[in-house]
Amino acid sequence: MSMAEQKRVGVYICHCGGNISDYVDVAAIRDEVSKDPDVAVAKHVMFACSDATQKEMEKDIREQHLDAIVVASCSPKLHTHTFRSVAKRGGLNPYRYVQVNIREQCSWAHSDHPAEATQKASGLIRAGKERVLSSEALIPIRVESKQAVAVIGAGVSGMRAAMALSDVGEEVYLIESADRPGGKVAARSKLFPDNSSGKALTDRMLAEIKKRPTIKIFTKATIMSVSGSIGNFTLKVSVDGKETLPLVAGAILVSTGYDDYMPAKGEFGFASGSNIMTLPDFNTLLESGSGDIKVNGKVVKRIAFIYCVGMRQVKGPNTYCSRVCCTAAISTSLAAHERAKDIDTFHFYRDIRTYGKQEALYEASSKAGDTYLMYNEKTPPVVEQKGDHVRVSVKDQLSAKKEIEVDVDLVVLVTGMVPRSNSAQVASLFKIPTGSDHFFNEIHPKLRPVETVINGIYLGGSCQGPKTVSESVNSSMAAAAKIYGVIGKGTIELEPIVAAVREDACVWCGKCKDVCEYDAISQVEHGGKTVAMVNSSACSGCGICAPVCPSDAIDLARYTNPEIESMIDAFSKDAGVTPADIAEKESGGKEMTQMKEFPARWNAILAKLGDEAKTIPEMGEATGFDLQDLTFQVMTMVKYRVLEPAGIDDDDEYYSYKRKR
Ligand SMILES: Cc1cc2nc3c(=O)[nH]c(=O)nc-3n(C[C@H](O)[C@H](O)[C@H](O)COP(=O)(O)OP(=O)(O)OC[C@H]3O[C@@H](n4cnc5c(N)ncnc54)[C@H](O)[C@@H]3O)c2cc1C
Ligand code: SF4
Ligand code: SF4
Ligand code: SF4
Repeated sequence: MSMAEQKRVGVYICHCGGNISDYVDVAAIRDEVSKDPDVAVAKHVMFACSDATQKEMEKDIREQHLDAIVVASCSPKLHTHTFRSVAKRGGLNPYRYVQVNIREQCSWAHSDHPAEATQKASGLIRAGKERVLSSEALIPIRVESKQAVAVIGAGVSGMRAAMALSDVGEEVYLIESADRPGGKVAARSKLFPDNSSGKALTDRMLAEIKKRPTIKIFTKATIMSVSGSIGNFTLKVSVDGKETLPLVAGAILVSTGYDDYMPAKGEFGFASGSNIMTLPDFNTLLESGSGDIKVNGKVVKRIAFIYCVGMRQVKGPNTYCSRVCCTAAISTSLAAHERAKDIDTFHFYRDIRTYGKQEALYEASSKAGDTYLMYNEKTPPVVEQKGDHVRVSVKDQLSAKKEIEVDVDLVVLVTGMVPRSNSAQVASLFKIPTGSDHFFNEIHPKLRPVETVINGIYLGGSCQGPKTVSESVNSSMAAAAKIYGVIGKGTIELEPIVAAVREDACVWCGKCKDVCEYDAISQVEHGGKTVAMVNSSACSGCGICAPVCPSDAIDLARYTNPEIESMIDAFSKDAGVTPADIAEKESGGKEMTQMKEFPARWNAILAKLGDEAKTIPEMGEATGFDLQDLTFQVMTMVKYRVLEPAGIDDDDEYYSYKRKR
């Protein structure tokens, strides 16, 4: 396509229901942009992302033969995909679209300076228009994927995900470092909330796994190296310290779990006698017999549980709450009552966090007569050996900080979940970032909760942070679903915003390879010389390599030098928006006057709606209002709960709205 043909750009400037237009004079900018010979369509719209405006843009692209569109609205993080889809539906290459952020980076940031905000928005839009004209149409990168998944860690999380992946036709390599699958749960005979047996659960899962020939389990396995990228990873795995197998997988699920916190010597009296032990050790003791509980041959009648040991540390790395341990301790206390009669339990806690349905256990414990004493992190309980018993002293926050001493036969330290000791090594092997708590970090806890920054590597279970069994399984099943969604078709489509090396300019100095954290750059021979090459399926498009190249041999798609330079030139041109335009805005221009008409318009819309549900075009026909204005009014009425959405029409084109009851 020649440059002359390309110069039919559509520019849409969004009001964002006042979020932008209360501070930025969108009408003045539209008037200015319309004078640009490259701009075939310039509009200011109430909500660029509304159904009606999206349809309007698609229509403009087709009928006005637009070659590119610029949407000046909110952050591209929010709506890049929305408007890429609009471009695509209109018949454009989706990358012939640029979003300009005039909300977060302009109207919100400069709300006290509307004149300057308007000037800045105008400059940003000019820059966006130049950028879209300089940018190339891109096509997604297509990669063939191996229909196999490597699941690292065969605890409940890894085992459950392996079964799910096998059931949808993927081959699974289940790689476990211990001598048996099952993880922490396999060692437990009673799990909260329902007292089900962890051992029975993991045995059942293992039996199910064995029925599936497409799951290959490797125990006593160590991953020696990982190479490749999404669709085609190669893992070198040593089994039992002997053979090293190369396993090829399209995706990797890391479900390596957690470690129990191990108290330091002397922490709450730990290691000063066998009558002070951790919760996991007490669970093992409790589950290993029946009748009287005995420690060192002495029958245990009084037990103190000290909560938050090693967790929520004031001085220490584990500042987080381990979420599971309150419920685990209470459930263990109930199990102790069940096993032996006439036991008294004392719970020295900071806060009780038995969230959701687990609260029932706290209630049961309270009803069983358990004593709860609340301590403050600044005055933790003091534990002392006193002959054949242990004394726990505390300033109880619930009885006006009264000093209370409790003599017990056994102290149980309620320890929580910490990152596994091998987590730094696993993180470096798979290049997974860790958080300040040193657990593995997903991209976004709400929006991308099981994906990592490395394409094709996913997280599941408690390696992400403390979780109950059901939460662990939920997350690994989410990862399994995500993996199947990506590799299930055999061909993966990847974002084409990646780096590329111009071989003629590269002099192979290796600087780009050194800085690439994604191992996407390799050294190759090309046309008789050594040059750098980017593996586009491993490249994340981070752009770090481009500025370090002394020969300027690296281009990052959508961020090429011509694009960036054209934006800077356009932004630095004299602003076309004049102070007079701005003064009118500041003194309350015509849009402000329109706001006074809201009640009359709302009444007219409500009168035409009656008790029916109508789409915006139907309301437009009934009221005779301009569709742009009507969209704004309807959205504002929804915001103020005057109207509510009432479903989408049969063609999935328009939402209907009705009076809110
Ligand atoms: C004291 C305590 C009591 C608890 N009680 C309950 C309860 O009653 N009910 C409940 O719902 N939850 C309970 N939990 C939480 C429960 O233990 C976890 O939710 C569960 O174990 C998480 O399973 P997972 O598969 O994610 O991790 P894990 O059980 O830790 O399994 C991880 C697996 O990965 C393997 N692995 C690690 N690194 C590698 C590697 N590099 N290569 C290969 N394999 C590797 C490990 O050997 C292990 O088999 C309790 C937790 C604690 C601390
Ligand atoms: S779950 Fe309870 S015991 Fe565990 S860290 Fe949080 S508050 Fe402390
Ligand atoms: S930094 Fe530039 S010159 Fe050096 S190897 Fe990479 S592409 Fe080639
Ligand atoms: S853009 Fe980032 S990930 Fe891609 S090759 Fe360059 S440094 Fe590596």
